[in-house]
Amino acid sequence: MISRKGIPTSPGIAIGKAFVYKKSHVKVGKRASDVETEIHRFKCALKETKKQVGELKKKALKEMGEEKAAIFDAHLMILEDPAFTDKVLKYIRENGLSAEEAVVKAARDIAAIFEVMEDEYMKARAEDIRDLGNQILEKLMGTSREVRLEKPSIIIARELLPSDTVKIKRENILGFATELGGVTSHVSIIARAMGVPAVVGIEDLTKIVRDGDLVIVDGYRGLVIINPKEELLKAYREKMEEDRIQREKFKEIGKLPAITKDGVKFEIGANIGEPSEVYLAIENGADGVGLLRTEFLVMGSEKFPSEEEMANELKKIIARLEDKPIIVRTLDIGGDKPIPCLRLPQELNPFLGLRGIRLSLSRKGIFKSQLKAILRNNPRGNVKIMFPMVSLVEEVIEARKIVEEAIEELKAEGVEVGKTEIGIMVETPSAALMVDAFAEHVDFFSIGTNDLTQYTLAVDRTNEHVAHIFDHLHPSVLKLVSHVVEKAHEKGKWVGVCGEIASDTDAIPILVGLRVDELSVAPLFIPKVKGIIRSITYKEAKELARKALKMKTAEEVRILSKKFIKEIKFKF
Ligand code: PEP
Ligand code: MG
Repeated sequence: MISRKGIPTSPGIAIGKAFVYKKSHVKVGKRASDVETEIHRFKCALKETKKQVGELKKKALKEMGEEKAAIFDAHLMILEDPAFTDKVLKYIRENGLSAEEAVVKAARDIAAIFEVMEDEYMKARAEDIRDLGNQILEKLMGTSREVRLEKPSIIIARELLPSDTVKIKRENILGFATELGGVTSHVSIIARAMGVPAVVGIEDLTKIVRDGDLVIVDGYRGLVIINPKEELLKAYREKMEEDRIQREKFKEIGKLPAITKDGVKFEIGANIGEPSEVYLAIENGADGVGLLRTEFLVMGSEKFPSEEEMANELKKIIARLEDKPIIVRTLDIGGDKPIPCLRLPQELNPFLGLRGIRLSLSRKGIFKSQLKAILRNNPRGNVKIMFPMVSLVEEVIEARKIVEEAIEELKAEGVEVGKTEIGIMVETPSAALMVDAFAEHVDFFSIGTNDLTQYTLAVDRTNEHVAHIFDHLHPSVLKLVSHVVEKAHEKGKWVGVCGEIASDTDAIPILVGLRVDELSVAPLFIPKVKGIIRSITYKEAKELARKALKMKTAEEVRILSKKFIKEIKFKF
């Protein structure tokens, strides 16, 4: 038995066989009959990589001059050099390797030749070759087929990006444990949305666990136990059963409205990313959808979907909601959510780069087709549109213009479009501080504390080395939330909160006290949020929020809030 501690990011207990997800392992053990397929895959990936390098060269020429752009010429030469490509082909043909493994081996062989050279310039080429090898690998993985996971398993991985999780059948996922990541990295959000436990930030996990090992993921305490002793296994099985009973009991609370004991009402929305989650949202008592992350609807596609395909996908969600309100967020691509089929430039700082609304405004054709797909589904006016990663008022003005154009075009086609409210995510300090300026241009706000915390505390939300700094209850974040609510309400605008803070037990009374209008959370958390709100008064929550804003550290806020929670009657 081995036990390792990490960061618990989705509560619950999972017990099952491990499936160790290693990207390059996806292709291990292919038969000779696949040789031609592997060669074809390699050639396609090589072509795409060349195209990408060519684009980078053009950009570098424009922005940095000829000297800097020359490096990309060198990269193109390597990609065209038979010394490299023939080696890859030889590994595939003669050793029966997958395209991925052949690329890794060939890049390693050639890098080794450069590494021992005297000349510093030539030595540095080893780095370029490894980099190019990785770029080809990325292309190969973006196009690789479904992960072959046939039985329900616990997914063990170094890192799980959205492009990885879309390849795994959801019904076969019992839980997650990864080496990298934090509370708001993709894998954690997905785990909470699915209601499966997750623990992240466990060093060397993929080296310790083997495929088929029996694993317990304890998403309460952040433990991963490999091949547990019988009595421990028994205790965890009992805890799992208790959890199941508790969840059933919670569902009843979900059906009740979220009203404080002194009569203040809050809306509770659901955060969803795909059609199957709508059922969970309704079952657990959602008043509507507070955040639909549309990027998940296009993530798995090999080709970017057409307007019609997007409209059909959205229809599956919107039709199931009957007339309940839904906030559809336009694509939040970039950051840790790359989309292989869009062939985006590689960036040094993707979280500060071409992400969210910035990307949409740079690809107006795609943006408008997404807007039209959304608007086609709004004949009755219950669909709202929200832009992510906004930092400038100009972005909203420009985006709204495109919405107007989309509406005009649809009307000319004879499509009925109901009144569509437009809002923004408040997830950059700029948007938070300038909320009154934004209020002139939007109908509502939704605070995305995952990013707001990341950008306020300058802490990468996906990096386990700085996970201890990431806390959405830090007073700096709370001050921004308080400012947004106050200023937005002065202008008569609605404010929701859709970051993970809204399902954090310690944070819920504080958000109530700050008088946000809505809390939007992963469906399974809805009953808990309602239960807490129904157990407190707005008056005491307001006093708690006032004190929290005076604290100096996130820890002090948590201590304060835990004391408050302990005193209320709600048991969970
Ligand atoms: C957020 O940033 O808080 C948010 C809800 O958006 P996402 O987690 O999708 O970036
Ligand atoms: Mg965000």
